[in-house]
Amino acid sequence: MKITSVDSFILHVPVTGGGIADSTHNISHWGVVGAAIQIEGGLTGYGFTGTHAHLPGDQLITRCIDTCLAPLLLGQDASDITRLWQTIARNPALQWIGRSGITTLAHAAVDVALWDLKAKNAGQPLWKLLGGQVRDKVRAYNTDIGWLNIADEALVAGARAALAQGFTGIKVKVGSTVERDLRRLTAVRHAVGPDITLAIDGNGKWDLATCQRFCAGAQGLDIFWFEEPLWYDDVKGHAQLARSSSIPVALGEQLYTTDAFAEFFAQQAIHWVQPDVTRMAGLTEVLRVCDMASAFRLPVAPHAGDMSQVHVHLSYAHAACAVLEYIPWIQHCFTDPARVVDGYFCLPQLPGAGTTPTVDALSRYRQPVA
Ligand code: MG
Repeated sequence: MKITSVDSFILHVPVTGGGIADSTHNISHWGVVGAAIQIEGGLTGYGFTGTHAHLPGDQLITRCIDTCLAPLLLGQDASDITRLWQTIARNPALQWIGRSGITTLAHAAVDVALWDLKAKNAGQPLWKLLGGQVRDKVRAYNTDIGWLNIADEALVAGARAALAQGFTGIKVKVGSTVERDLRRLTAVRHAVGPDITLAIDGNGKWDLATCQRFCAGAQGLDIFWFEEPLWYDDVKGHAQLARSSSIPVALGEQLYTTDAFAEFFAQQAIHWVQPDVTRMAGLTEVLRVCDMASAFRLPVAPHAGDMSQVHVHLSYAHAACAVLEYIPWIQHCFTDPARVVDGYFCLPQLPGAGTTPTVDALSRYRQPVA
Protein backbone atom coordinates (compact mmCIF):
# COMPACT_ATOMS: atom_id res chain seq x y z
CA MET A 1 0.00 0.00 0.00
CA LYS A 2 2.65 2.48 -1.12
CA ILE A 3 1.46 6.09 -0.95
CA THR A 4 1.76 7.84 -4.31
CA SER A 5 -0.06 11.13 -3.71
CA VAL A 6 -1.51 13.32 -0.96
CA ASP A 7 -3.94 16.07 -2.01
CA SER A 8 -5.86 18.49 0.17
CA PHE A 9 -9.32 19.96 -0.37
CA ILE A 10 -11.69 22.48 1.24
CA LEU A 11 -15.49 22.21 1.10
CA HIS A 12 -17.88 24.77 2.64
CA VAL A 13 -21.34 23.28 3.15
CA PRO A 14 -24.38 25.36 4.22
CA VAL A 15 -25.83 24.56 7.68
CA THR A 16 -29.51 24.19 8.59
CA GLY A 17 -31.70 27.22 8.00
CA GLY A 18 -28.91 29.39 6.61
CA GLY A 19 -27.19 29.92 9.95
CA ILE A 20 -26.92 28.71 13.55
CA ALA A 21 -25.54 30.07 16.80
CA ASP A 22 -24.43 28.82 20.18
CA SER A 23 -23.11 30.97 23.03
CA THR A 24 -19.75 31.41 21.35
CA HIS A 25 -20.08 30.68 17.63
CA ASN A 26 -22.20 31.97 14.77
CA ILE A 27 -21.82 30.10 11.50
CA SER A 28 -23.45 29.77 8.09
CA HIS A 29 -21.32 26.90 6.69
CA TRP A 30 -19.46 23.86 7.97
CA GLY A 31 -15.90 23.44 6.70
CA VAL A 32 -14.85 20.01 5.50
CA VAL A 33 -11.09 20.39 5.20
CA GLY A 34 -9.50 17.19 4.11
CA ALA A 35 -6.88 15.00 2.55
CA ALA A 36 -7.16 12.47 -0.28
CA ILE A 37 -4.39 9.87 -0.05
CA GLN A 38 -3.80 7.57 -3.00
CA ILE A 39 -1.81 4.34 -3.09
CA GLU A 40 -0.31 2.33 -5.96
CA GLY A 41 -3.15 0.87 -7.96
CA GLY A 42 -5.28 3.97 -7.51
CA LEU A 43 -7.21 3.23 -4.31
CA THR A 44 -7.90 6.52 -2.49
CA GLY A 45 -8.66 7.19 1.17
CA TYR A 46 -10.36 10.36 2.42
CA GLY A 47 -10.23 12.06 5.79
CA PHE A 48 -11.21 15.48 7.01
CA THR A 49 -11.29 17.85 9.93
CA GLY A 50 -14.24 20.14 10.72
CA THR A 51 -14.09 23.94 10.77
CA HIS A 52 -16.31 26.99 10.79
CA ALA A 53 -15.61 27.56 7.10
CA HIS A 54 -13.12 30.36 7.68
CA LEU A 55 -11.21 30.23 4.41
CA PRO A 56 -7.90 31.79 5.54
CA GLY A 57 -7.83 29.40 8.52
CA ASP A 58 -8.81 26.44 6.36
CA GLN A 59 -5.99 27.28 3.96
CA LEU A 60 -3.49 27.13 6.84
CA ILE A 61 -4.66 23.55 7.44
CA THR A 62 -4.41 22.50 3.78
CA ARG A 63 -1.00 24.17 3.52
CA CYS A 64 0.11 22.11 6.51
CA ILE A 65 -1.18 18.93 4.82
CA ASP A 66 0.46 19.79 1.48
CA THR A 67 3.82 21.09 2.64
CA CYS A 68 4.46 19.50 6.06
CA LEU A 69 2.62 16.15 6.15
CA ALA A 70 2.65 15.00 2.51
CA PRO A 71 6.48 14.76 2.37
CA LEU A 72 6.38 12.52 5.48
CA LEU A 73 3.82 10.20 3.84
CA LEU A 74 4.84 9.88 0.18
CA GLY A 75 6.42 6.50 -0.55
CA GLN A 76 5.39 5.07 2.85
CA ASP A 77 3.21 2.00 3.47
CA ALA A 78 -0.28 3.38 4.16
CA SER A 79 -1.18 0.36 6.30
CA ASP A 80 1.42 1.35 8.94
CA ILE A 81 -1.05 3.67 10.64
CA THR A 82 0.52 3.71 14.09
CA ARG A 83 4.02 4.21 12.74
CA LEU A 84 2.87 7.05 10.49
CA TRP A 85 0.95 8.62 13.38
CA GLN A 86 4.16 8.61 15.40
CA THR A 87 6.19 9.94 12.47
CA ILE A 88 3.92 12.99 12.24
CA ALA A 89 2.99 13.61 15.88
CA ARG A 90 6.55 13.24 17.14
CA ASN A 91 8.29 14.96 14.25
CA PRO A 92 10.64 17.36 16.08
CA ALA A 93 10.15 20.30 13.71
CA LEU A 94 6.34 19.94 13.67
CA GLN A 95 5.88 19.49 17.40
CA TRP A 96 8.02 22.58 17.94
CA ILE A 97 5.50 24.74 16.05
CA GLY A 98 2.32 23.03 17.26
CA ARG A 99 1.39 20.12 19.49
CA SER A 100 -2.22 21.30 19.07
CA GLY A 101 -4.17 23.54 16.70
CA ILE A 102 -3.52 23.63 12.96
CA THR A 103 -0.93 20.86 12.94
CA THR A 104 -3.29 18.54 14.83
CA LEU A 105 -6.31 19.35 12.64
CA ALA A 106 -4.20 18.59 9.56
CA HIS A 107 -3.00 15.38 11.20
CA ALA A 108 -6.64 14.42 11.92
CA ALA A 109 -7.51 14.56 8.21
CA VAL A 110 -4.50 12.47 7.23
CA ASP A 111 -4.93 9.84 9.95
CA VAL A 112 -8.60 9.29 9.11
CA ALA A 113 -7.72 9.03 5.40
CA LEU A 114 -5.28 6.23 6.28
CA TRP A 115 -7.98 4.38 8.25
CA ASP A 116 -10.37 4.83 5.33
CA LEU A 117 -7.74 3.39 2.97
CA LYS A 118 -7.02 0.44 5.23
CA ALA A 119 -10.71 -0.44 5.52
CA LYS A 120 -11.31 -0.05 1.78
CA ASN A 121 -8.26 -2.18 1.02
CA ALA A 122 -9.62 -4.87 3.34
CA GLY A 123 -13.05 -4.60 1.70
CA GLN A 124 -14.64 -3.90 5.09
CA PRO A 125 -16.52 -1.07 6.79
CA LEU A 126 -14.25 0.56 9.36
CA TRP A 127 -16.19 -0.80 12.37
CA LYS A 128 -15.34 -4.32 11.20
CA LEU A 129 -11.65 -3.46 10.92
CA LEU A 130 -11.76 -1.99 14.45
CA GLY A 131 -12.72 -5.37 15.84
CA GLY A 132 -16.37 -5.77 14.98
CA GLN A 133 -19.77 -4.76 16.26
CA VAL A 134 -20.02 -4.59 20.07
CA ARG A 135 -23.61 -3.32 20.26
CA ASP A 136 -26.82 -3.90 18.33
CA LYS A 137 -27.67 -0.22 17.92
CA VAL A 138 -26.08 3.21 18.40
CA ARG A 139 -28.52 5.68 19.88
CA ALA A 140 -28.54 9.14 18.31
CA TYR A 141 -29.28 12.39 20.08
CA ASN A 142 -30.37 15.42 18.11
CA THR A 143 -28.38 18.65 18.51
CA ASP A 144 -29.78 20.42 15.46
CA ILE A 145 -33.08 21.30 17.15
CA GLY A 146 -31.44 23.19 20.02
CA TRP A 147 -29.41 26.15 18.75
CA LEU A 148 -29.34 29.30 20.82
CA ASN A 149 -30.68 31.48 17.98
CA ILE A 150 -33.89 29.43 17.73
CA ALA A 151 -36.86 31.26 19.28
CA ASP A 152 -38.61 29.63 22.25
CA GLU A 153 -41.69 28.41 20.39
CA ALA A 154 -39.67 27.01 17.49
CA LEU A 155 -37.35 25.30 19.98
CA VAL A 156 -40.26 23.48 21.59
CA ALA A 157 -41.72 22.62 18.18
CA GLY A 158 -38.35 21.28 17.03
CA ALA A 159 -38.03 19.12 20.15
CA ARG A 160 -41.49 17.69 19.54
CA ALA A 161 -40.65 17.04 15.88
CA ALA A 162 -37.46 15.18 16.88
CA LEU A 163 -39.50 12.92 19.16
CA ALA A 164 -41.95 12.26 16.33
CA GLN A 165 -38.98 11.16 14.19
CA GLY A 166 -38.01 8.64 16.87
CA PHE A 167 -35.25 10.47 18.75
CA THR A 168 -35.07 9.69 22.46
CA GLY A 169 -32.37 12.24 23.19
CA ILE A 170 -31.95 15.94 22.39
CA LYS A 171 -29.45 18.67 23.27
CA VAL A 172 -30.23 22.33 23.82
CA LYS A 173 -27.69 25.14 23.79
CA VAL A 174 -27.36 27.42 26.82
CA GLY A 175 -25.08 30.32 27.67
CA SER A 176 -27.23 33.36 27.11
CA THR A 177 -28.70 34.44 30.45
CA VAL A 178 -29.49 31.98 33.24
CA GLU A 179 -33.10 33.17 33.31
CA ARG A 180 -33.68 32.81 29.55
CA ASP A 181 -32.02 29.39 29.40
CA LEU A 182 -33.94 28.03 32.39
CA ARG A 183 -37.18 29.29 30.86
CA ARG A 184 -36.43 27.57 27.54
CA LEU A 185 -35.36 24.30 29.16
CA THR A 186 -38.41 24.21 31.39
CA ALA A 187 -40.63 24.60 28.32
CA VAL A 188 -38.75 21.86 26.46
CA ARG A 189 -38.84 19.44 29.39
CA HIS A 190 -42.55 20.08 29.79
CA ALA A 191 -43.10 19.41 26.06
CA VAL A 192 -41.04 16.21 25.76
CA GLY A 193 -41.94 14.60 29.08
CA PRO A 194 -39.72 12.79 31.58
CA ASP A 195 -38.46 9.89 29.45
CA ILE A 196 -36.38 11.84 26.92
CA THR A 197 -32.74 12.51 27.69
CA LEU A 198 -32.19 16.28 27.68
CA ALA A 199 -28.56 17.40 27.52
CA ILE A 200 -27.36 21.01 27.49
CA ASP A 201 -24.27 22.68 26.03
CA GLY A 202 -22.74 25.96 27.22
CA ASN A 203 -19.84 26.08 24.72
CA GLY A 204 -17.51 27.41 27.38
CA LYS A 205 -19.23 30.75 27.85
CA TRP A 206 -20.02 31.05 31.57
CA ASP A 207 -17.83 31.41 34.64
CA LEU A 208 -18.06 29.07 37.62
CA ALA A 209 -20.41 31.24 39.68
CA THR A 210 -22.88 31.54 36.77
CA CYS A 211 -22.73 27.78 36.14
CA GLN A 212 -23.43 27.06 39.79
CA ARG A 213 -26.37 29.47 39.82
CA PHE A 214 -27.72 27.83 36.66
CA CYS A 215 -27.27 24.29 38.02
CA ALA A 216 -29.14 25.19 41.22
CA GLY A 217 -32.05 26.48 39.11
CA ALA A 218 -32.01 23.42 36.81
CA GLN A 219 -32.30 20.84 39.60
CA GLY A 220 -35.80 19.67 38.67
CA LEU A 221 -35.17 19.40 34.91
CA ASP A 222 -33.30 16.08 34.93
CA ILE A 223 -30.41 17.34 32.79
CA PHE A 224 -28.52 14.41 31.22
CA TRP A 225 -25.23 16.33 31.04
CA PHE A 226 -23.91 19.89 31.07
CA GLU A 227 -21.46 20.13 28.17
CA GLU A 228 -18.56 22.59 28.17
CA PRO A 229 -19.93 24.63 31.07
CA LEU A 230 -16.62 26.49 31.50
CA TRP A 231 -13.61 27.52 29.45
CA TYR A 232 -12.35 24.42 27.64
CA ASP A 233 -8.98 24.04 29.38
CA ASP A 234 -10.11 24.92 32.92
CA VAL A 235 -9.54 21.62 34.72
CA LYS A 236 -9.78 23.11 38.22
CA GLY A 237 -13.08 24.89 37.51
CA HIS A 238 -14.69 21.80 35.99
CA ALA A 239 -13.56 19.72 38.97
CA GLN A 240 -15.13 22.25 41.33
CA LEU A 241 -18.40 22.26 39.36
CA ALA A 242 -18.44 18.46 39.18
CA ARG A 243 -18.14 18.34 42.99
CA SER A 244 -20.74 21.01 43.66
CA SER A 245 -23.53 19.92 41.28
CA SER A 246 -25.40 16.68 40.66
CA ILE A 247 -25.57 17.47 36.91
CA PRO A 248 -22.88 15.42 35.08
CA VAL A 249 -20.11 17.37 33.31
CA ALA A 250 -19.35 16.57 29.65
CA LEU A 251 -16.46 17.91 27.59
CA GLY A 252 -13.71 17.09 25.14
CA GLU A 253 -14.58 18.58 21.75
CA GLN A 254 -11.85 21.21 22.18
CA LEU A 255 -9.18 18.95 23.68
CA TYR A 256 -6.36 18.07 21.31
CA THR A 257 -4.39 15.43 23.16
CA THR A 258 -4.66 12.29 25.28
CA ASP A 259 -2.65 14.16 27.92
CA ALA A 260 -5.33 16.85 28.13
CA PHE A 261 -8.02 14.21 28.74
CA ALA A 262 -5.80 12.43 31.27
CA GLU A 263 -5.65 15.56 33.41
CA PHE A 264 -9.46 15.94 33.46
CA PHE A 265 -9.75 12.24 34.38
CA ALA A 266 -7.15 12.52 37.13
CA GLN A 267 -8.87 15.54 38.68
CA GLN A 268 -12.35 13.95 38.44
CA ALA A 269 -13.47 16.95 36.39
CA ILE A 270 -15.43 15.00 33.73
CA HIS A 271 -18.31 12.49 33.66
CA TRP A 272 -19.00 12.20 29.90
CA VAL A 273 -16.01 11.96 27.57
CA GLN A 274 -16.36 13.68 24.18
CA PRO A 275 -13.28 13.21 21.99
CA ASP A 276 -13.49 14.07 18.29
CA VAL A 277 -11.49 12.46 15.47
CA THR A 278 -11.51 15.80 13.65
CA ARG A 279 -10.03 17.68 16.62
CA MET A 280 -7.49 15.21 17.99
CA ALA A 281 -4.82 13.65 15.80
CA GLY A 282 -7.38 11.39 14.13
CA LEU A 283 -8.99 8.10 15.04
CA THR A 284 -5.66 6.70 16.24
CA GLU A 285 -5.56 9.10 19.19
CA VAL A 286 -9.31 9.01 19.88
CA LEU A 287 -9.09 5.23 20.30
CA ARG A 288 -6.53 5.81 23.07
CA VAL A 289 -8.91 8.21 24.83
CA CYS A 290 -11.75 5.67 24.53
CA ASP A 291 -9.53 2.98 26.06
CA MET A 292 -8.55 5.35 28.85
CA ALA A 293 -12.23 6.19 29.47
CA SER A 294 -12.95 2.47 29.77
CA ALA A 295 -10.26 2.16 32.44
CA PHE A 296 -11.87 5.04 34.38
CA ARG A 297 -15.38 3.56 33.87
CA LEU A 298 -16.47 6.73 32.10
CA PRO A 299 -18.91 6.69 29.13
CA VAL A 300 -17.90 8.21 25.79
CA ALA A 301 -20.23 10.35 23.67
CA PRO A 302 -18.07 11.35 20.68
CA HIS A 303 -18.39 14.97 19.58
CA ALA A 304 -19.44 14.83 15.95
CA GLY A 305 -17.16 17.32 14.22
CA ASP A 306 -17.27 14.83 11.34
CA MET A 307 -21.08 14.90 11.57
CA SER A 308 -20.86 11.22 12.54
CA GLN A 309 -19.37 9.86 9.31
CA VAL A 310 -16.42 8.26 11.19
CA HIS A 311 -17.78 8.31 14.73
CA VAL A 312 -20.63 5.95 13.87
CA HIS A 313 -18.03 3.28 13.03
CA LEU A 314 -16.23 4.00 16.30
CA SER A 315 -19.47 3.89 18.26
CA TYR A 316 -20.42 0.49 16.87
CA ALA A 317 -16.94 -0.91 17.57
CA HIS A 318 -15.85 0.50 20.95
CA ALA A 319 -17.50 -0.64 24.17
CA ALA A 320 -17.03 2.73 25.91
CA CYS A 321 -19.22 4.64 23.42
CA ALA A 322 -22.73 5.12 24.80
CA VAL A 323 -24.54 7.58 22.55
CA LEU A 324 -23.71 9.66 19.43
CA GLU A 325 -24.48 13.19 18.31
CA TYR A 326 -26.64 13.77 15.23
CA ILE A 327 -26.33 16.88 13.06
CA PRO A 328 -27.35 16.37 9.41
CA TRP A 329 -25.54 19.27 7.70
CA ILE A 330 -23.09 17.37 5.49
CA GLN A 331 -24.68 13.93 5.13
CA HIS A 332 -25.52 14.49 1.48
CA CYS A 333 -21.85 15.09 0.66
CA PHE A 334 -20.76 11.47 1.10
CA THR A 335 -21.14 8.27 -0.88
CA ASP A 336 -21.99 6.42 2.36
CA PRO A 337 -23.87 8.98 4.50
CA ALA A 338 -24.48 8.50 8.23
CA ARG A 339 -28.18 7.75 8.55
CA VAL A 340 -30.54 7.76 11.52
CA VAL A 341 -33.74 5.74 11.49
CA ASP A 342 -36.15 5.78 14.45
CA GLY A 343 -33.53 7.46 16.65
CA TYR A 344 -30.67 5.05 15.97
CA PHE A 345 -27.71 5.22 13.59
CA CYS A 346 -27.74 2.59 10.86
CA LEU A 347 -24.79 0.21 10.75
CA PRO A 348 -22.60 1.28 7.79
CA GLN A 349 -22.25 -1.43 5.16
CA LEU A 350 -19.79 -0.12 2.55
CA PRO A 351 -16.00 -0.59 2.80
CA GLY A 352 -14.14 2.38 4.31
CA ALA A 353 -14.71 5.02 6.98
CA GLY A 354 -17.67 6.77 5.35
CA THR A 355 -15.47 9.73 4.44
CA THR A 356 -15.53 9.58 0.63
CA PRO A 357 -17.10 12.77 -0.75
CA THR A 358 -19.38 12.51 -3.76
CA VAL A 359 -18.15 13.95 -7.06
CA ASP A 360 -20.97 16.46 -6.83
CA ALA A 361 -19.94 17.66 -3.35
CA LEU A 362 -16.30 17.99 -4.43
CA SER A 363 -17.28 20.35 -7.21
CA ARG A 364 -20.30 22.14 -5.74
CA TYR A 365 -18.75 23.10 -2.37
CA ARG A 366 -15.07 23.39 -3.36
CA GLN A 367 -13.21 26.43 -1.97
CA PRO A 368 -11.86 28.74 -3.07
CA VAL A 369 -14.37 28.92 -5.90
CA ALA A 370 -12.47 28.76 -9.18
MG1 MG B 1 -20.64 20.98 22.14
